[in-house]
Amino acid sequence: KRLGIALVGLGGYSGGQLAPALQHTQNCYLAGIVTGTPAKAETWSKKYNIPQKNIYNYQNFDSIAHNPDIDIVYVVLPVSMHKEFTIRAANAGKHVICEKPMALNAADCREMVAACKQANKLLSIGYRLHFEPHTQEVMRLGQKQVFGKITKVDTANGFTYNGDPNAWRLKKALAGGGGLMDMGIYAIQGARYTLGQEPVAVKATQEKTRPDFFKEVDETVFWELKFPGGAKVTGKSSYNHDWGYLRATAEKGSFELEPAYGYGGLDGKVNGKPMQIHNIIQQAAQMDDFATCVTLNKTSRVPGEEGVKDMKVVDAIYRSLESGKWEKI
Ligand code: NAD
Repeated sequence: KRLGIALVGLGGYSGGQLAPALQHTQNCYLAGIVTGTPAKAETWSKKYNIPQKNIYNYQNFDSIAHNPDIDIVYVVLPVSMHKEFTIRAANAGKHVICEKPMALNAADCREMVAACKQANKLLSIGYRLHFEPHTQEVMRLGQKQVFGKITKVDTANGFTYNGDPNAWRLKKALAGGGGLMDMGIYAIQGARYTLGQEPVAVKATQEKTRPDFFKEVDETVFWELKFPGGAKVTGKSSYNHDWGYLRATAEKGSFELEPAYGYGGLDGKVNGKPMQIHNIIQQAAQMDDFATCVTLNKTSRVPGEEGVKDMKVVDAIYRSLESGKWEKI
């Protein structure tokens, strides 16, 4: 049986990526939507052939519990709403995919993990790169130490934000932070999956060149992470630079990705030679995998716990920006 997915929040990512990707999935399909905007409900219903009985708003969302068409709820809302809707979905008896960053902080993430466990529902985070072949090659090269121990990782992710100055992404209460939460999370995770280890401490600094625009949230953040293996790991995130690379140096070789984190196609080199790996529709692979996990009652390779690990690092980076010191993770 193909499982039914309901998207919650029909913004840029749902409309631009997830709904189109759901036209290419084998194990799941776009069965329902949850939106606060009646006009969007109508357009989506026509475009994707969604029956009226599978359309919800934020108020009547909990009655999704009685809808057998919906197996999985996919939360694609501003960050501050992730926790509430993940917990409501699990309590309504649905399995959940929640977008990154998982929540405002690691404590909220832990509550989400506990609530899904309590409801006996699977939880996965929208970490599409774990299903992406260039990224999987980097994981293999790094974690299996194909060129020996990794000695250095340098990685960056960012884009030049010139959008709506009133958007939720610039409001601390809704976004939790700026470039670090939105883009830096990929670079933090990139270092983690290259090394296959968890960082123990971090020191961070920041730069703001447009303080009038980034009033509430961070613009550009630089960090150094301490890993148990002793590799030198640096990273940066930005809402003011177009960055997107991961470079790893090992004892007997090197490998890199650039672009490293987007969904418009990744590219990479191993010891200076092109990887020659095909790109795929990452979101289709990610959602199909989760549908299989649900069918087999198997934990996703990107469970809620993976979101907790990244948010612990993010929390420590914000603490370090405050203290100016190394902070334990
Ligand atoms: P967006 O602003 O385009 O869409 C957000 C949606 O939430 C809109 O439909 C909006 O109407 C709705 N919404 C409900 N309550 C709101 C409120 N109080 N304020 C503002 N909007 C409200 O954002 P997006 O780019 O679609 O991002 C949504 C989530 O998806 C975020 O967590 C983001 O990090 C994530 N995302 C992930 C990827 C990825 O590659 N995995 C890419 C883009 C976005």
